[in-house]
Amino acid sequence: MRVAVFSSKPYDEEFLTKAAEGTDHELTFFEARLTRRTAALADGFDVVCAFVNDDLGAATLLRLAKTEPKLIALRSAGFNHVDLDAAKSLDLHVVRVPAYSPRSVAEHTVALMLALDRKIHRAHARVREGNLSLDGLLGFDLGNRTVGLLGTGKIGVAVGKILKGFGCDLIGYDVFENPEAIELGLQYVELRELWERSDVISLHAPLTPETHHIVDAFAIANMRDGVMVINTSRGALIDTAAAIEGLKSGKIGHLGLDVYEEEGDLFFEDLSDTVIQDDTFSRLLTFPNVLITGHQAFFTTEALEAIAHDTIANITAFSEGRDSGNEL
Ligand code: NAD
Repeated sequence: MRVAVFSSKPYDEEFLTKAAEGTDHELTFFEARLTRRTAALADGFDVVCAFVNDDLGAATLLRLAKTEPKLIALRSAGFNHVDLDAAKSLDLHVVRVPAYSPRSVAEHTVALMLALDRKIHRAHARVREGNLSLDGLLGFDLGNRTVGLLGTGKIGVAVGKILKGFGCDLIGYDVFENPEAIELGLQYVELRELWERSDVISLHAPLTPETHHIVDAFAIANMRDGVMVINTSRGALIDTAAAIEGLKSGKIGHLGLDVYEEEGDLFFEDLSDTVIQDDTFSRLLTFPNVLITGHQAFFTTEALEAIAHDTIANITAFSEGRDSGNEL
């Protein structure tokens, strides 16, 4: 099949090309993000392959459906950026990679926790300047602390497994209880109790209308003073303006973000020569107790291999009229 790969980076090209060896799929790589305006690049292709910050809203899908593409192959687990109703009405099939490597995201989540707790980002900058003072670097023992997991699916449980090894008490909130989480010793609680009891809160739920801004001013007011909040799920789970107020008042003691609600225009690009226009994002960068990574939690060799393999397998299944099991 002729596949138009959007938001393509050199690593996408490398891993997808390798995964497609031995198939008759023809991959064309476009650096452009998929939007209503760039959708015309997919004219003449059978498959559109898209990533997390591509715009798959109704207008883009309508433009795509004008020509041949019949399959949207997401290189992600999250699909909050796809208007599934519009896709259905346009007879566009959508597939995703539901579980490429929960461990990659879980390990990055814990890396953010530890780096913030022990102020590794600040220590690194200091030591390079010959400043070996410990003032301001005081951390806490993560074991014995209560960690609240919002969302106890594949990634939430993978985080829980690592933190269990540290000796943390695990509590969780989810709309479904996961037996694997219970086996770990995680105690399910109501959302309010999760806010109230957790020393560290880690977000692992998908972005849906129910989870949009689930961490808002009200939630933050109910949290423990000095709480650590980590978000490696989707940016819009957090109301960023409310989080900034929480940081200013000291209610939030540490904030670790791999995702940001307006990341679409920022992430995955080198903007070091430009003036960032997003004042909210710029404000976040001024706090010593905020650590931001640019949606890199998934970015391991193992995850990229799995994403590429499953994406190509999804396309092959579609081309052969088989059910991949990954259709939305
Ligand atoms: P999953 O489907 O296995 O688990 C998600 C869990 O969230 C499920 O248990 C579900 O019941 C729960 N949930 C749904 N609605 C909820 C609600 N309203 N309140 C509480 N819980 C709710 O998904 P996963 O593989 O664990 O991934 C979680 C999220 O992580 C994805 O949706 C994606 O947005 C994000 N993600 C981020 C990266 C990254 O690189 N930062 C990579 C992969 C996935």
